[in-house]
Amino acid sequence: MRLKTKEHISLIGAGLSGPVMASYLSSIGFSTDIYESRSDMRTNLLSAGRSINLALSVRGIKALKDIGVYEKIKPTLIPMSGRMIHDANGDVHLQPYGQKKNEVIYSVSRSNLNKILMDYAESTYSVNFNFDHQLQDIDLNKLTLRFQNKDIPFNRILGSDGASSKVRDFISENSDASFLKKPLGHGYKELTIIPNNNGEFQLDSSSLHIWPRGEFMLIALPNFDRSFTCTLFLPMEGDNSFSYLDSEKKVFKFFKKYFPDTLQLISDIPGEYHKKPVGKLGSIYCSKWHYNDRAAIFGDAAHTIVPFFGQGMNASLQDCTVMHSFVKRYDGNWDKIFKSFSEKHVPNGHAIADMALENYIEMRDSVNDPKYKIKRELEFELENKFWDRFVPRYSMVSFHDLPYLEVYRRGQVQSKLMHSFILGDLTKKKLYEQIESKLTPIR
Ligand SMILES: Cc1cc2nc3c(=O)[nH]c(=O)nc-3n(C[C@H](O)[C@H](O)[C@H](O)COP(=O)(O)OP(=O)(O)OC[C@H]3O[C@@H](n4cnc5c(N)ncnc54)[C@H](O)[C@@H]3O)c2cc1C
Repeated sequence: MRLKTKEHISLIGAGLSGPVMASYLSSIGFSTDIYESRSDMRTNLLSAGRSINLALSVRGIKALKDIGVYEKIKPTLIPMSGRMIHDANGDVHLQPYGQKKNEVIYSVSRSNLNKILMDYAESTYSVNFNFDHQLQDIDLNKLTLRFQNKDIPFNRILGSDGASSKVRDFISENSDASFLKKPLGHGYKELTIIPNNNGEFQLDSSSLHIWPRGEFMLIALPNFDRSFTCTLFLPMEGDNSFSYLDSEKKVFKFFKKYFPDTLQLISDIPGEYHKKPVGKLGSIYCSKWHYNDRAAIFGDAAHTIVPFFGQGMNASLQDCTVMHSFVKRYDGNWDKIFKSFSEKHVPNGHAIADMALENYIEMRDSVNDPKYKIKRELEFELENKFWDRFVPRYSMVSFHDLPYLEVYRRGQVQSKLMHSFILGDLTKKKLYEQIESKLTPIR
């Protein structure tokens, strides 16, 4: 379906979600300009920001398929079938993400993905990119976007300008929208496991590696060049924190005590540790994502979340799918489009922000708890028996595209039922009956 009128939309931010939204809109007849503060990473050898690789799953893949770019990205993906847990005593074991062969998530290079998305949006949909354009302000009376050296007229704005969004500031200053920033008090630092002397992976490349250590953890995702990007997650303050690890000696002792196997995998840990910056983590909850029919935000600008469910990008790409569906449904009525986007989709943003926080506890702590393992086995057993009603929460998030709020609610029901059964408060027969009465079939 193409729209009757060819309207112009200004997008702010050419990160992971901006080019996807622009492609969706251009595919139905809009003309689009994207303004991006950085230089063009395709001609300028700069990194595409923090976190060198990311986990891509169903929600992100759906958007990439919709705009037609997925086949170009597919060859660059590395499937990961589960979490490879590295215990403190050196034991290693795999916890599969799902039960079906296709229930995998994919490691993808952030910068490569971003470049493909920009190339594709430009060549297939004639999206116009304006680099070195940092949005400073929005003038509502004159309908102009203010950049460093010039003002550019706009009609409608979509902001995907990330966690420190200017468009979000504009919306909250001009409407009753409010937003809440919740710092996690934990940060992250990236380290690299280079390939071995034969140019091969030093660890199994078909899993996401985790070294869970209670209050903190290390993870590693494979890269196409046979290296791994490791991310160390630590509290910012206190014992075993980024502020505590302020000398090479302390860093070495820390890794020797908690991650001894990594000393052989990462060359010169203390040196690399001190070269790399610390990123802070937190969540942002907004009450509303739009300002009447003029502006809306999506992606991290609308819902910055902690990275522990591997969903920030996936959620941002799903925003594009959702917005596209409203644009088509309300054919040019932006009041309705933006209002519906906020009303229907903000609760999903809050739900994934909460689930991402809960998953931090699961990843760094519970994965090694015997109770967690019992629960996980039960989840798989129940999924086998009630495949269309009882789907483990991780699978609903990563392998289905149900709204996150629905995932959250179903997850709570499932969790309570399993808890009662494990405690002996429910017989198996009763558990089965409750599943059938409380969980409707998933479409
Ligand atoms: C350590 C870490 C690991 C992660 N791992 C995963 C993962 O495994 N899976 C996953 O799905 N997600 C992951 N994420 C989250 C993911 O990176 C983000 O959710 C995703 O990048 C959001 O896309 P976006 O387009 O909204 O924002 P971004 O990709 O941040 O893009 C925002 C763009 O806006 C530009 N910009 C900012 N301000 C302005 C301005 N004033 N004017 C013009 N341009 C501006 C920026 O330069 C940038 O290009 C991770 C995040 C972190 C920090």
